[in-house]
Amino acid sequence: MAMKAMLIDAMRCIGCRGCQVACKTWNGRKAEKTEFFSGPGYQNPGDLSAETLTLITYNEVQVNGRFDWVFGKKQCMHCNTPACAAACPVGALKKLESGPVIYQKHRCIGCRYCMLACPFEIPRFEYDSANPYITKCTMCADRLETGGVPACSKVCPTGAIAFGDRDEMIREAQHRINQNPSGYYHEIYGLEEAGGTCVLHISNVPFDKLGHRTDVPKHAVNKDTEQAMEAIPIVMLGLAALLGGIYMLRTRTVHHESDAPRADG
Ligand code: SF4
Ligand code: SF4
Ligand code: SF4
Repeated sequence: MAMKAMLIDAMRCIGCRGCQVACKTWNGRKAEKTEFFSGPGYQNPGDLSAETLTLITYNEVQVNGRFDWVFGKKQCMHCNTPACAAACPVGALKKLESGPVIYQKHRCIGCRYCMLACPFEIPRFEYDSANPYITKCTMCADRLETGGVPACSKVCPTGAIAFGDRDEMIREAQHRINQNPSGYYHEIYGLEEAGGTCVLHISNVPFDKLGHRTDVPKHAVNKDTEQAMEAIPIVMLGLAALLGGIYMLRTRTVHHESDAPRADG
């Protein structure tokens, strides 16, 4: 299968958050008490959480001399060479040839190195759970397996989340920019960030205005992560694994019955 990608077009997004609801529904994530404005933007919830795998950010930005609302979509970028997977000592995160970076919860020891390694600050941890795991967008890999498209893409009423072969999505993004050069910002976010990603963004404003990190290197950061991991003395990794093992035994044996497969497993 050719590598797939999502193309998110801020010019087409109307901020309805149907995608956020569809994501929560498909992935069985709970409702949670949230607070207004804890991240960049004016949205509620303010940021991603263990229960919110994608977030529409509400940004008031000056466009052509007047203030306008521009909406961004935050989620895992599904890096071509994911730093989270490079950092994981037990292979719980894995890049599929079809594009998604998936999380295999049964392997996870709860060390949270993936959270430190991700240049986009995406993975979250279920701190409130007695049996905690990492959570993040899976690109709906389970839906893709049966020929479907991501739930958020399916539900979007304006076609702001296109889905298809990555090469085709890059061509489509370039086509839209060429068709409206005075409207679009002339870059595709994700084309080169972290060595390229399977989530691509285009917009009428610079990407930092949408809450995206623009200090991410334009090369794969998994090599940096691997070198950092290699620099950690083997005894420290052994200690981390030991602590992780104790942690896992302490938390998971008691709650084994709640390990029923779900979308992020
Ligand atoms: S955005 Fe972060 S969590 Fe997602 S694949 Fe890249 S490194 Fe991993
Ligand atoms: S691809 Fe699936 S998991 Fe990711 S944001 Fe969209 S609905 Fe959520
Ligand atoms: S469903 Fe589409 S239009 Fe609505 S908030 Fe999500 S991306 Fe924007």
